[in-house]
Amino acid sequence: MGVRELRAAFEERSVSAEEICGAHLERMERLNPDINAFICITAEPALERARDLDRRHAAGETLGPLAGVPIAVKDNICTRGTHTTCGSKILANHVPIYDATVVRRILEAGAVIVGKTNLDEFAMGSSTENSAFGPTKNPWDLERVPGGSSGGSAAAVASEMVPAALGSDTGGSIRLPGSFCGVPALKPTYGSVSRYGLVAFASSLDQIGPFGKTVDDVALLLDTITGHDPCDSTSSPQPVQSSVKGLEESITGLRVGVPSEYFSSALDEEVERSVEEAVKLLESLGAVINRLSMPNTRFAIPTYYLVATAETSSNLARYDGVRYGVRAKENRDLRGMYRSTRSSGFGSEVKRRIMLGTYSLSSGYYDDYYLKAMKVRSLIRRDFDEAFRNVDVLVTPTAPTPAFRLGEKMARPLDMYMSDICTATINLAGVPAISVPCGWSRQRLPLGLQIISPHFQEPKLLRVARAYEKARCFRDEQGPLPLEKKG
Ligand code: GLN
Repeated sequence: MGVRELRAAFEERSVSAEEICGAHLERMERLNPDINAFICITAEPALERARDLDRRHAAGETLGPLAGVPIAVKDNICTRGTHTTCGSKILANHVPIYDATVVRRILEAGAVIVGKTNLDEFAMGSSTENSAFGPTKNPWDLERVPGGSSGGSAAAVASEMVPAALGSDTGGSIRLPGSFCGVPALKPTYGSVSRYGLVAFASSLDQIGPFGKTVDDVALLLDTITGHDPCDSTSSPQPVQSSVKGLEESITGLRVGVPSEYFSSALDEEVERSVEEAVKLLESLGAVINRLSMPNTRFAIPTYYLVATAETSSNLARYDGVRYGVRAKENRDLRGMYRSTRSSGFGSEVKRRIMLGTYSLSSGYYDDYYLKAMKVRSLIRRDFDEAFRNVDVLVTPTAPTPAFRLGEKMARPLDMYMSDICTATINLAGVPAISVPCGWSRQRLPLGLQIISPHFQEPKLLRVARAYEKARCFRDEQGPLPLEKKG
């Protein structure tokens, strides 16, 4: 069952919150050893919370829209009293003393948090292989990656261990795993969801967003977490429009742009075919298709990897290992302790980024790299402004390929970085985008369609995604997971 179905079943008392929680925990216990979607499962506190919700329900209290619904949270989002490791040894003992705003909001809405999901260390990666706690596996093929960095959240929803989850997206980390695992996954507008309590990776790009089994559930989760937060100075004061309201309305007459640059020769042909089929389906629903050009798209990867690494080098300067994680034992003095702790505490991808970012910010290189990247970022943003003068939404592939094999790209960081070729522009521009499943590869791996809208137009974005989802009926084709077929 999805979020709404569970909430309704709980409301009419056909099932208790404790039973809902127990059933999901049981499934987690059964499937997680193979998938490794969770770094930590909070069974006892979750059951206790579910029982509390049952008591309040029995006492006639009106409960929120997520009451009794189990939800998983990516392990770079702070949960009071529960480890928040960012998939890193350097934060292995970090137990936050406060909840992130998104966590507080889902708890106020009645959610039951059942665990913290696996990720690439500090959300740096596209496959969830850069985790100090081992890689997450794709539920549709255990030899393949789930995408990253929110691979744990995507795999947990795809394998129905939870009906919904939260992730974070800096260059594609919600949408890419959504695409690889076959679940709807949304990166909201920059500034629309509070990041208070999200461990910073690249602050001008990071955004928290939801995964669900349906677009409908994604909209419900977005409505719960979005809105101004005085604790986050980058959070927008703009009044929130509900995405749930108007979700089912028709998309007749809506103008859909298809930018040619996202269909380069590097695009896998099966991905291309299924995205073109999706465009036809949208047209048959009454949308007007407009083929257009976004010429600065080709700078996406170099620009993103300069901006993101520069911000990494400053954001990660705070980790000294003194308090929350692995602390090197052999050290002569304070500086030596910092050096050896950071050398052994961070994984190689994180260190690569700190070095790249420090280099591009250093004197003599700043103008050539960081400043140049910032200028190109403006051009990329302008591409979106131009495009949205003529269309309501844009559609592209989410990823250039279906899920790749574990280990396939680990030795070649540039190949790994290329996975973000369709998603990174969106973070650079700050606009919202969703990945929705749009088909299967011959090897039965899910494929994803990315839909993009102007800033703060999530209601329209989700309306298009919902219309597509209803017409495409992806979930009906899904069938059981391969690992369940084997018994
Ligand atoms: N794959 C991209 C990176 O490694 C994006 C990660 C993310 O969105 N957190 O930077």
